[in-house]
Order: sequence, then C-alpha cells, then structure tokens
Amino acid sequence: MFFQQSALLVLGIHTTIEQPEQAWGKVMQFHLEGFKTGDPMVLDPSESARTCPQADSLPEQVDVLIVGCGPAGLTLAAQLAAFPDISTRIIEQKDGPLQLGQADGVACRTMEMFEAFGFSERLMKEAYWVNEVTFWKPDGAQPDNIVRSGRVQDTEDGLSEFPHVILNQARVHDFYLEAMRNSPNRLVPDYSRSLLDVEVDRSRADYPVTVRVGRIDAQHQGQEEVVRARYVVGCDGARSVVRKSIGRQLRGDSANQAWGVMDILAVTDFPDIRLKAAIHSASDGNVLIIPREGGYLVRLYVEMDKLSDNERVASKNITVDHLIAAAQRVFHPYTLDVKEVAWWSVYEIGQRICDHYDDVADDARASPGVLDSQPRVFIAGDACHTHSPKAGQGMNFSMQDTFNLGWKLASVLRGQAKPELLHSYSQERQTVAQELIDFDRKWAKMFSDRPTEGGGEGGVDPKEFEHYFVKQGRFTAGTETHYQPSLICGDRRHQHLAEGFTIGKRFHSAPVVRLADARPMQLGHIARADGRWRMYAFAGAGDSAGTHSAVRALCEFLSDSPDSPLKRLTQQGQDIDSVFDLRAIFQPSHRDLSLEALPALLLPRKGRYGLTDYEKVFCANLKNGQDIFDLRSVDRTQGCLVIVRPDQYVAQVLPLEAHQALADFFAGFMLPQH
Ligand SMILES: Cc1cc2nc3c(=O)[nH]c(=O)nc-3n(C[C@H](O)[C@H](O)[C@H](O)COP(=O)(O)OP(=O)(O)OC[C@H]3O[C@@H](n4cnc5c(N)ncnc54)[C@H](O)[C@@H]3O)c2cc1C
Repeated sequence: MFFQQSALLVLGIHTTIEQPEQAWGKVMQFHLEGFKTGDPMVLDPSESARTCPQADSLPEQVDVLIVGCGPAGLTLAAQLAAFPDISTRIIEQKDGPLQLGQADGVACRTMEMFEAFGFSERLMKEAYWVNEVTFWKPDGAQPDNIVRSGRVQDTEDGLSEFPHVILNQARVHDFYLEAMRNSPNRLVPDYSRSLLDVEVDRSRADYPVTVRVGRIDAQHQGQEEVVRARYVVGCDGARSVVRKSIGRQLRGDSANQAWGVMDILAVTDFPDIRLKAAIHSASDGNVLIIPREGGYLVRLYVEMDKLSDNERVASKNITVDHLIAAAQRVFHPYTLDVKEVAWWSVYEIGQRICDHYDDVADDARASPGVLDSQPRVFIAGDACHTHSPKAGQGMNFSMQDTFNLGWKLASVLRGQAKPELLHSYSQERQTVAQELIDFDRKWAKMFSDRPTEGGGEGGVDPKEFEHYFVKQGRFTAGTETHYQPSLICGDRRHQHLAEGFTIGKRFHSAPVVRLADARPMQLGHIARADGRWRMYAFAGAGDSAGTHSAVRALCEFLSDSPDSPLKRLTQQGQDIDSVFDLRAIFQPSHRDLSLEALPALLLPRKGRYGLTDYEKVFCANLKNGQDIFDLRSVDRTQGCLVIVRPDQYVAQVLPLEAHQALADFFAGFMLPQH
C-alpha cells in the first residue's frame, strides 16, 4: 500500500464515497426446543459439557487437538466447538489471551465470515472503518515537506455488504473466545502448554497422532502430558513446531525487510491522521497511517532498513525512540508529539509458503482414496505461509484457512463425508495463498515501474495498472479467492444461469425480503458457521410454487425421491434441514406470493414440538433497484439452484430441474446415512 500515490495520480483514479450496503442485523432463530430465558447466543451445553466440564488436565484422547491460539487456531476452535459430538482441545504456550498488538486489518470477506460466527455487528460497532485512503508525496517546490497527492475510496462499491475495518487482533481473539465459551462444548483454551512434538502412527485407525505437551506455568513446570488425537492442526505461527514435526518447510523470499510498528496516542497537526494514509517522503522513508478504533489511537507502520542476507532484525537494536524519530522526519513539516506508546514492535517478514499443508507423503498423494494416504496433521495460517505486510493478509488469510478446514474435519468426524474430502484443504488453500503471493510480488514491481503507454522496457501500461489496482483491492478485501473445480466445486457448465454467483468464489450476499414477516435482510446472513450446506433455489419467471413450478418439483424430488441427498445423507430422527438447508427466492413482491401455497419442504416441521420453520422463503427486494436477480445476474426465465458450501463458497450452479446432477454432486464425497 505504500507506493500508490504516484501511480494513482497518473491514472487519475478518484471515486466517490458510498457507504457499504447496510447489513441488516443478525438473523437468529431460537426457542425451537422449548422456551428459554436469557441470552440466546449462549447455546445449551452438550451432555458431556454439562456432566464433566473441561478439566485442567488434557484428556488422553481427543478428536482434534489444535495448537496455538492465534486467529487461525481460534477460528477452528470456534467452528469445531459448535459440534457437541466432536471433542476438541486447543493448547497455547502463552499464559492467557493476547492483550494487544499484532495485526489489525479485518477484510470485508473476513467480516462476512464473522457474521456466520455471530459477532460481525459488535465488531463493526467497535472498529475503525476504512472508507478512504490518502496519499502524500514530497512537495515539488520544497522536497523536505510532504503534500497530499491523492485521495481514493478504499473498497469498490458493491464488493461486500460489510466495510473494511480496523480492530486490534486481541479483540478479534476475544470475540472468538466468547463464541467458544457460549458453544455447546463450552470450549476454553488450555494455556501455558507448549507443544513438544507430534508423531503419526498410520497403522492405528482410531487415534493415530500422538502429541507431547510440556506444561510451562510455575505450578506444573516440567510436567509433560501425552494426548492421542484423530487429527492435529498446527496453528502455531511462523516458527511452527507442528510444521517441523511433519517435515514441511517454508520456502520463498527470506525475511529481509524490517518493519517498525507502533500504536500511539499523539498530538499532531497532520490533517489526515484519522484517514488511512500512505506518506512517501523524499529521503526519510515511508510511513503508513492506520487510524484505530476508539477515535484517538493510531498505528504507524514505519518502513525500516532492508536487511542484508542472514541479518536478523534483532541485531539492529531498533528502539521505539528510533521509530518515533523516523516517523517525525517523514511527517515534516507537520509535527508529531507522541504522548503514549500503547504497543510497538519491530518485525521482519518475507513471502514464504509450504508446498503442502498436511502430512501426506508426496508419493501417497496420488492415491487419495487409500486410508494410509489420508491426512492426519494439518498446518494453517502463518505456520504455512507468511506475506509481506503490504498485502495486509496475515490475520485474514490465516482465519480463512481454518474456516475452510473446520467444516471438512467436522463432516468426516461425524461420518457425513469420505475422508478424501480432507485432501481438498491443502489443495485449495495452498493454491490460493500461492496466487496471493505471486500477485503481491507483481503488484509491488508495478508500483516501482514507470507508467508508460503500452508498457515496454521497465514501464507499466496504465490500463494494465488500472486493472491490477481493482484486482488488488479485491485481493485485499479477500473476495478474489477462487477455488478450482474439484469434488466439492463443480464445473462452469451452468454458470450462465447465475453469473454473479461465481462457482468457486464466496457467495456474494444481496438484499431480499423474507416472505413470512416482510423483513428486509441480506440473504447471505442466514448462513451460520454450523457445518450445513445451503441450497438456494431461485425461481424462474412466473414460478410462484404452483402446480407446474420448478421449485415445487425440486422440493418434491428432495422430499420423496430415494436419490434425494436430503433423504440419503440426513440421519433418521434429525431435522430435515440439519445437513442441507434449502431456501427459495421468488421474483414477485412478498405481497404477491402466498405462504399457504408453498411446498411442505419450504415450511418444514422441526424440533421436539414439530414447530414450523417460517424462514425458508424470500422474495426479491423490489425497492431502490435492489433486486437480487438483477444484482447477481440470475437467469430470470429459468431460475437456478445455487449450492453453497458450509464455508460460504459457491460449490455449484445447476438448473432447477437437474435433480440427478444434484444427487450425483453430493454422492461424490458424502456418505449415505441409512
Ligand atoms: C509480534 C508480531 C507482530 C505482528 N504485527 C503485525 C502487524 O503489525 N500487522 C499485521 O498485519 N500482521 C502482524 N503480524 C502478523 C499477524 O499477527 C499474523 O499473520 C497472524 O496472527 C497469523 O495468525 P496465526 O494464527 O497463523 O499465527 P499467530 O497469530 O502467530 O498465532 C500462533 C499462536 O501459536 C502459539 N504457539 C506457537 N508455538 C507454540 C507451541 N509450540 N505450543 C503452543 N503454542 C504455540 C503462539 O504463542 C501464538 O499464540 C504480527 C505477528 C507477530 C508475531
């Protein structure tokens, strides 16, 4: 983000400010199993959490052991804690939760995920919103001074209903810890425990991974615990012990750039102190300003010296006074009087990545169906990729890794999916991280190249640069992640039926009106982090669920056919939407559609009383040009079925009548339940 100013000026990119579409609040359902008082976010404890609360010592056996309470580990823990039938523990070498510091940028895509965990609104309230970015450069007349050279909108209009926000990483952790405490498993981290090593014995089918953990608090110093796990996930950061245990290596550019970062309370006459701002001085380096939550705090990233090969930043003896002095020089002629430093750090980081994110031997990878080749140990987040701070992706990408892995582990552990599904974690996440790194490298080079018409030697064509600028915004917003066709991502044969729901990309939410209570809301916000698949049936023209309706025919197939995934893949006795959550969206206004004419599957009876779920059907929001069919280019004549994975990525787009193709898609990786 540092060097955008000159290129932006050349291109004359100036956009208007428009607030993100309103996020219409949390969508919650409760009282299904009987009336309950109190906070509905606190879920009923599971039987085991009620009868034997989490003990201080680690159990001998556990389904999943997570190592590390950073953003990657906590996302996975919060996801798995939602399943009462899965035993999960998360260990952390620190003695308690993170208090301050580290990353602070939360991308739009990450906010969409937080919505599924139920805390996006609270985070939005507390966070700083990045609406605009300004650029400062040396004053042509007096190069020792800086002047403002540009001002742009931060996030492209319509990219997400959520803003790009800034909040202390520690607060993000707090929200996850609360979600874990309130989950059926009442999961809390086991602090002051350091992972020593991990061993996999593939001859054991039940708990093949053995983990040694050292206790490091004063009372238990020197004690060791041994845990046997079905799966271990190393979210233990850039110096991951799990990564070393499975013989994987980070490869790529060495960490040869030192960065200083400080969170400060300061008095200044610099006018853009409450805007994200990139300042490029003539000869004193660069500063990136990130205003922080609360209205007063501000973060300054100060680019320090390049490190020579094998030089570590620690050897430079950089102090906070050096950082302040460097920032003051860059700010000239403006003053910066630092009153308090809340946190500061100097760190070095390179663009490095592992070839694979699991413990599968390279020769076994060719036979994914063989039990011996199933992954048992995974790595996620900084343990398997590190990025330059310019990409601002460390925390965001790490959380998306484990959101991708969590539902897959849960499906396999619960006997819903074949273990081969687990191969897709490394395949999908390693590929997109590599793309991000390649992109970031090219982007950085374009910044330093001269803008010239048609490109040419050492130059960059402004048109190509403009294209890259837009793409870069999408990368950093997290919306550019695109998974390739696989068992769980269909081909593009029917993509034309809904061009705005790109197969392999995240489901891009849009406004709708709920039929039963006329509530305007975001369709994507019905998706909870609950491991369920979503099927969105978009009705074609004239389809109001009557006799010849394609939506009705789909419902009848799903309710009655022996090939129906709902019937084959949902356990007897469970609610009909416990694995597949079918929703329908109709084109007419909600006032012109009859609830009483809907097929029974769209008004399912659930829970111990057989209560009716009235929240399955929506209509286009016809106010203010917000029609979802137009916004997402859904074929109005035919309609279509959009299948969305538990991690909110579009898995397939099919014609509403393609019943067999729907059945075949799920038969490819899921297991019949009876
Ligand atoms: C000091 C520091 C400053 C940073 N500053 C910035 C910044 O200013 N801006 C920015 O964008 N990004 C910053 N980052 C990067 C960003 O915080 C990471 O990209 C992000 O946190 C990655 O999340 P993660 O969960 O993969 O790993 P981490 O957040 O590193 O979490 C790993 C966790 O595992 C624990 N752990 C490690 N080894 C073991 C073990 N053997 N046993 C048990 N627990 C273990 C660690 O204590 C840690 O809590 C910083 C990172 C660090 C470490």
